[in-house]
Amino acid sequence: MHGLLLRPKAMPAKRLFALGIGLILCFCAVCAAIIWEMAQKDYQHAKEASTNLVASIASEIDRNIELYDLSLQAVADGVKLPEINSISPELRQVVLFDRAATAKDLGSILVLNPAGDVTLDSRTLTPPQTNFAQQDFFRVHQTQATTGLFISAPWVTSEGEYLISLSRRISNSDGSFAGVVAGSMRLSYFHNLFRKLNFGPGDSMALFNSDGAMLMRAPFDISKIGQSIRDSQALKQFPARQSGSYVTKSVVDHVSRLYVFQQVGHHPLIIAQGLALDGIYADWWQQLWLIGGVVAALGGFSIVLMFYLVAAVKRRAAAEDQLAHLASTDALTGLANRRRLDNTLDVEWRRGMRAKAPVSLLMIDVDHFKIFNDTYGHQAGDAVLATVGRCIATSTKRVTDLGARYGGEEFSVLLPGIGKAGAQEIAEQIRARLTTARASQGELPTVSIGLACLVPDHERTSRDLIKAADLALYEAKREGRDRVVVSPIGWDKSGKRRVA
Ligand code: GH3
Ligand code: MG
Ligand code: MG
Repeated sequence: MHGLLLRPKAMPAKRLFALGIGLILCFCAVCAAIIWEMAQKDYQHAKEASTNLVASIASEIDRNIELYDLSLQAVADGVKLPEINSISPELRQVVLFDRAATAKDLGSILVLNPAGDVTLDSRTLTPPQTNFAQQDFFRVHQTQATTGLFISAPWVTSEGEYLISLSRRISNSDGSFAGVVAGSMRLSYFHNLFRKLNFGPGDSMALFNSDGAMLMRAPFDISKIGQSIRDSQALKQFPARQSGSYVTKSVVDHVSRLYVFQQVGHHPLIIAQGLALDGIYADWWQQLWLIGGVVAALGGFSIVLMFYLVAAVKRRAAAEDQLAHLASTDALTGLANRRRLDNTLDVEWRRGMRAKAPVSLLMIDVDHFKIFNDTYGHQAGDAVLATVGRCIATSTKRVTDLGARYGGEEFSVLLPGIGKAGAQEIAEQIRARLTTARASQGELPTVSIGLACLVPDHERTSRDLIKAADLALYEAKREGRDRVVVSPIGWDKSGKRRVA
């Protein structure tokens, strides 16, 4: 059967649904991008703040070590003066050891001879009878002339004080080993320094030497002092990189942190701050939950709304289809109505003109129907019309065939692309089916059928096809009814049959 009457097609529900989902996904993607950007900003801010803090602490420590180192260098240079042994011990103490080295967190400065014995002590005129020949710092200077300032791993005094040694080599003018000048720095200095800083929960600050020995750590834990963190990434990057940052799990307490590290001046010391990722992203998580919640609620609401919309569109499309069907169908017979026949005939006439293909039309009229109505009543008459409609419908099987009720007891069958012979066959089939129906249903009027077949051209219109079929029907009536009359091809302008 032919398509319904042409009407502007609404957007299919599936496409509407896909568009809606696409819009929601785009919205979610934009929100995700914004949230991602926010996380990046929080990370960058934390990194910048940490870099600044680490730099300022490094410079504070560097300044103090530098001052102490200057004192050590002054001693190393002073002991080489030839006159130094000829002056009084009291004067020598004043010449060699300045007051800077007596600050609170600094220990006494010792001068060791090449055998490791203490020869001078900044705090007393009677140095202790101690030998440091086996100590790491002594052996380093003894064997390596280029060491410069050596900073030892932390060690504990007999009084339980934690210290680090800072030492320099004393060289003779020919470069040979002449002893060591060594001082010490209490780790309490770093402890007090770190204590002044405010840390968030999970954050950490660590000072360690280039061998990976922990000198101080905040939060403070005495058991961590001296612990080796040789596996830390800062040490793996050092000395190739003197500063940097990375994210990793702490080798000390296994908390995931952003670490920012920097070398302290040019000394073999590294200061590193660790900011717990949980802390960095704490505010961000709150915003994420808030924005995520709002987006999820909006998204969910939009999806529900879309389902309603799609359902409404589907309902509307179905209603429109039904309306269009009703508007183009004859209620009694179920065949197409006159309006649809006219529309389809126009379309097929143009198509036939383009394809140069024949278009056939049957005009069917029930014979003596008035008498039938008068004899059996209008309801029986209606039943006859329905039977004729069924006979037509079952005889027109191709999708392009169109059976229609033309009006009253007249029917039409449009057969695009079918020639005269094929159309005649269908016409006879309709009559045959009616005969079969008569056998089972009893009294049924016959039908007369006029058949016309034209190949559309510019000289004729579809009206000419109807007119030709009508004239053929008239001829069938005239010749005695219950028959098919085929219109001869072509009619002259006066409407008289043109003799072929
Ligand atoms: P002919 O063989 O020359 O066609 O004679 P006819 O009686 O069929 O022709 P006529 O035009 O005189 O009468 C047509 C009748 O069809 C008139 C009308 O009562 C009847 N009719 C038209 N539409 C309907 C309908 O919808 N239902 C019924 N029951 N009858 C209808
Ligand atoms: Mg009639
Ligand atoms: Mg009739």
